[in-house]
Amino acid sequence: MFNSLSDRLTATFKNLRGKGRLSESDVNATVRDIRLALIDADVATPVVREFTGRVRERATGAEVSAALNPAQQVVKIVNEELVSILGGETRQLALAKRPPTVIMLAGLQGSGKTTFAGKLARLLRDQGHFPVLVAADLQRPNAVTQLQVVGDRAKVPVFAPEPGNVGGHDSATDFGEGTRSFGDPVWVAQAGVGQAKVRQYDVVIVDTAGRLAVDENLMQQAADIRAAIQPDEVLFVIDAMIGQAAIETALAFQKSVDFTGVVLSKLDGDARGGAALSVASVTGRPIMYASTGEQVKDIEVFHPDRMASRILDMGDVLTLIEQAEKAFDKQQAAEMARKLMDEEDFTFDDFLQQMAAIKKMGNLKSLLGMMPGMAGMRDQLNALDEREFDRVEAMVQSMTPYERTHPKAINGSRRSRIAGGSGVTVSEVNSLLERFTQAQKMMRQMTRGGGMPGMPGMPG
Ligand code: GDP
Repeated sequence: MFNSLSDRLTATFKNLRGKGRLSESDVNATVRDIRLALIDADVATPVVREFTGRVRERATGAEVSAALNPAQQVVKIVNEELVSILGGETRQLALAKRPPTVIMLAGLQGSGKTTFAGKLARLLRDQGHFPVLVAADLQRPNAVTQLQVVGDRAKVPVFAPEPGNVGGHDSATDFGEGTRSFGDPVWVAQAGVGQAKVRQYDVVIVDTAGRLAVDENLMQQAADIRAAIQPDEVLFVIDAMIGQAAIETALAFQKSVDFTGVVLSKLDGDARGGAALSVASVTGRPIMYASTGEQVKDIEVFHPDRMASRILDMGDVLTLIEQAEKAFDKQQAAEMARKLMDEEDFTFDDFLQQMAAIKKMGNLKSLLGMMPGMAGMRDQLNALDEREFDRVEAMVQSMTPYERTHPKAINGSRRSRIAGGSGVTVSEVNSLLERFTQAQKMMRQMTRGGGMPGMPGMPG
């Protein structure tokens, strides 16, 4: 996500390192490098102009600061300006004073609307809401079925226009008025919202149709749905991989349908992404969510400040911590910490449990990408083999309960048996046992020392 932009910007800052003060030519060179980096990343031209203009002005006039050296000052300025083009403050979902809150999704076909509908529903459900999905995309074959699959995964009911074609955990697909207007998306959307009211769901997410390109009919339909259901939020979903076309598409939707917030989807891809980054600035509408994968859990609330520090490789420790909190429940974490204090107590069963929790946190590579200083290690990161997890799991599963709780008892013959049982070599088993002992030691240090050793950028 924004890898090359990130690499380019951090390289620019490196050139400033060690300078006592910034000359005019230093500022010029820096601004030029930043401009090229932004253009290469597909950031929209007017945004590039405004951005570099502001950086130049502030870097030139920058007071000599006691706390920051010139390079750090430039990083700080660029960071603040990035936060600003990304929309400034984090924008929370506007919940209706009188439920249900109605959220309408709009965007091109293939932008990731339906996938996002499921993710948002699941996120809200996890926060204690009772969301329902409404399938008002009647254009694309299978769109309704797809939403039902998504609803199933999110464990959220779906209101769909075809009785009998029921998915989800609720049979609420009956609109109560027969089959009158099943072909009419405006009616379906309205009926869905009406049903949500009757059944006392507190959030309704309405998925609408998209086309492959912007066209009048599509815009009119979306505008009609908007007028009919009076949503509290209209979220415009944009595929971060479509490059410069993102700006044009966003402006077209803004003109005819208008929206209250933006969702950047497919941010897990390695496209340049700069166009998507310009959308907030060009439309004046905040980016509210990022969609980062095909699974229902791959969603993040978009925080401009955190995204800026991720791009500048300052790490995104806050998001990392939040993901971790979601995966580990607090009691479990406390119990684990207690066990870690006591070497004998920490077993392979705990190890398995930890691995499951790490997996639950989401895509390992994207998690590691949030750690500060990782930009320089991208190649190693890409080489990381997630299947290694599965091999380790297989080995632990081939251990007897006694072996899992008494790792020290795993002698040579037990090692060959475990290797045979899990389809790996004995030396892989040896290396696992070695790593386990080391992990035990390291984690003990962490829990006793009260902090993570040598983790760059971590406070304290
Ligand atoms: P819609 O036509 O706007 O409803 O788009 P879909 O939700 O059907 O998504 C189109 C395709 O993009 C599907 O194959 C999805 O699996 C995929 N997709 C959606 N969101 C993401 C994402 O965040 N990351 C990735 N990698 N793929 C996504």
